[in-house]
Amino acid sequence: MNQFEYQRVLTPKSAIAAINKNSNTYFLAGGTNLIDLIKSGVTIPDRLVDINNLPLSTIEQTATGIRIGALAHNSDVSEHPLVVKNFPLLSLALKAGASPQLRNMATTGGNMMQRTRCHYFYDTAMPCNKRAPGTGCGAIGGYNRMHAIFGASEKCIAVHPSDMCIALVALDATVNVVGAKGERKIAFADFHRLPGDNPEKDNTLQKGELIMSVDIPSNNFAAHSYYLKVRDRASYAFALVSAGVALNMKGNTIQEARLAMGGVAHKPWRLTAAEAFLKGKSATEDNFKQAADLAMKNAKAYGENDFKLTLAPNTVVEALKIASK
Ligand code: SF4
Repeated sequence: MNQFEYQRVLTPKSAIAAINKNSNTYFLAGGTNLIDLIKSGVTIPDRLVDINNLPLSTIEQTATGIRIGALAHNSDVSEHPLVVKNFPLLSLALKAGASPQLRNMATTGGNMMQRTRCHYFYDTAMPCNKRAPGTGCGAIGGYNRMHAIFGASEKCIAVHPSDMCIALVALDATVNVVGAKGERKIAFADFHRLPGDNPEKDNTLQKGELIMSVDIPSNNFAAHSYYLKVRDRASYAFALVSAGVALNMKGNTIQEARLAMGGVAHKPWRLTAAEAFLKGKSATEDNFKQAADLAMKNAKAYGENDFKLTLAPNTVVEALKIASK
């Protein structure tokens, strides 16, 4: 491992000043992904700015919903009474992620910033446009069982690995960030990006910006929410495909639907066409299948992940069936 400087900060202002001192500087929160990246030589920092002492771990009710601090640990968020009661989709998604030990360390902001688990990305001997732009993509034509079926490019077919973020995009969350130019809000759906010609960029944060918190607006989905994660083993595995489903139902009629998939794209993948289709429809298996078919429009597989073309719609249908009960 190469040597780097370590700095601990106590205020967001000092964190932003510290990150802007040197271009090759990273914020350190739980470190559950960053330390792996450093150990494998994917990230080679000159300096780490430890933000763990910033006052950003609060989970609180607001006038419009709930605010979750960027440093709130995944385990605390998943078990917080406000989250369990009002946003069970988020609680379920968090509990489906990683392991209890990792959830105790991992933070809300760090979860959003975690990088793809594409094997080529972590193997510095292999070509990877995300790690080393211009070197090619080892996964296209290579081992791509875990890879994207939506929104990929000729440069990168990686997927975003988070479970938490699938729930947050479905729940219309907003990200509050602050940087040298001040504060701004980013719709969660716009926080992560598709690879395009610049797969090295995972998100739309500007250089030196710090995630402060995430807001989730109040909703009527709590009674009919479910997160279904399909993976190679029952725990501590990334999703092959996951589906986050939240329904507002009156009797057997769906008033409103929020749907998103994980394990299928470079960003949490919201299913807006399927949501529009389900609005006002009865909660029947046939309608769920039609919604899932709509969600699969423009899906494209790359060989070893062809099975996702079947698994993805089946996962959506199953999640809808469970959520609607
Ligand atoms: Fe790299 Fe993306 Fe290709 Fe994986 S899919 S090898 S992360 S460019």
